[in-house]
Amino acid sequence: MVPYLLHWFEYNARILPWREEPQPYYVWISEIMLQQTRVEAVKALFERFIRELPDVRALAEVSEERLLKLWEGLGYYSRARNLKKAAQVVMERYGGRLPDTKEELLTLPGIGPYTAGAIASIAYGRVAAAVDGNVLRVMMRLRGSFEDITKDAVKRELAACLENVMPREKPGNFTQALMELGATVCLPNGKPLCEQCPIMHLCKAFHQGTELMLPVKPQKKARSIEWRTILVFQTPTGFLLHKREAKGLLAGLWELPNLEGRFGYEALEELLGMAGVKYRAISHMGPAKHIFSHIEWHMDGYRIELETGWRKEIACLEAQDGQAAQLVRLVKDSVEAAREELREVYSVPAAFDAYRSAIEKIN
Ligand code: SF4
Repeated sequence: MVPYLLHWFEYNARILPWREEPQPYYVWISEIMLQQTRVEAVKALFERFIRELPDVRALAEVSEERLLKLWEGLGYYSRARNLKKAAQVVMERYGGRLPDTKEELLTLPGIGPYTAGAIASIAYGRVAAAVDGNVLRVMMRLRGSFEDITKDAVKRELAACLENVMPREKPGNFTQALMELGATVCLPNGKPLCEQCPIMHLCKAFHQGTELMLPVKPQKKARSIEWRTILVFQTPTGFLLHKREAKGLLAGLWELPNLEGRFGYEALEELLGMAGVKYRAISHMGPAKHIFSHIEWHMDGYRIELETGWRKEIACLEAQDGQAAQLVRLVKDSVEAAREELREVYSVPAAFDAYRSAIEKIN
């Protein structure tokens, strides 16, 4: 299998910004970005990130606010926070140079066996396997194996097997070849392009006609659905933004103020009245949906235009009971962001994209 894969990779590797110069820092950042995000989406975000944070020191010193802004569009923001924590450890413990063994890399925050293997093999030429979803899919099909790929034991056995067969010279090319085959040929969801595959003649699943059944993983639990009402408070010079709690979903990120549940127009007017929030006009912005890994947000949004003296009025609001009190807390804890700041300064997660785009169109 190895020579066929390496030969194919030599002629079919995609040109990617982190491949041009596979230094450890670039491999690390790109591999973390590529978890849960498509290559095409990562390319531009990677280049922007590297332009502003070109090395481990810059990453260790960047403010959290700026880091999260640079991470916007990638989601799973804990990955960005872990990058910074790991960069600080690398500065303190290794003088700014990422360690070169899988074992040491594994001690850094946010680096698991896959990322450690990728950095060690691609950037440092070490014999270290990197088993991600692409590699698992290719290998299970190649072997015609019906083992459950979510099991750690299956991943460990596969990693050991790959480390046995990896070439001792340039093992990183083998790692990348397997990943690349999974990403571009041995595609998921019933679409492998077997006729373009360099290892088709060795592939058990292809010969047995089982490629569409593999790999095997248990069915995920259905996502729960949560309704949210998004409140786009417009002031004469900007929009209100609220910081989410430090723990839980979208922890510590800026959001458009929102309430749990679905409010009709009249119910919302009534709630605003109970909370004492005075407004000039209110208009319906329409529904939107965002899918997280375990939950779906079904949203409905309203634009609420506040009067010129909104700041003073909001400061005087008293917390009452229930949802009105929740609304009062929400507006009192919010900051005002000009449209430009919404674009350039505050990191607002993709869940609010539909309403952020609508904000851009407001005159
Ligand atoms: Fe995947 Fe088809 Fe190649 Fe087998 S022959 S590894 S199923 S693309």
